[in-house]
Amino acid sequence: MEYSGLYQHTNGAIATYLEGNLFCTVLNLAKPYLMDGREFYSSLIRLHILHHAVQEPIFGVGIMEELARHGYKLSAGTLYPMLHDMERKGYLFSVEERSGRQNRRLYRATDLGKVQLEDAKKKVRELFGELFEEV
Ligand SMILES: [Zn+2]
Repeated sequence: MEYSGLYQHTNGAIATYLEGNLFCTVLNLAKPYLMDGREFYSSLIRLHILHHAVQEPIFGVGIMEELARHGYKLSAGTLYPMLHDMERKGYLFSVEERSGRQNRRLYRATDLGKVQLEDAKKKVRELFGELFEEV
């Protein structure tokens, strides 16, 4: 059986599928993390994280809830490597903070992260204009 077209999951993820074996990938969207479209969404998620990290210290679970509110359901296994990568690249820095009986890691944007966000915002604004251009 051959399928073709677009499939939109309730989490907002959109996948294309052409053949039966790719359809399995589409069904995997039911899991609480993004399977398809990740190559598009991961940059949006990073910008979203950076945006909040400029405004206030963020922590894993908090940002996970914020992203979920916007329709991005990320697992810890996706989010934490992303935060670590952004820290390694110098966009975020983190400190360990005691929260009740547990420690949690708080992330803030670095100066480089702030500059990067401002630059990205210009590009997002321009793309937004084109994507939603009135014809
Ligand atoms: Zn937000």
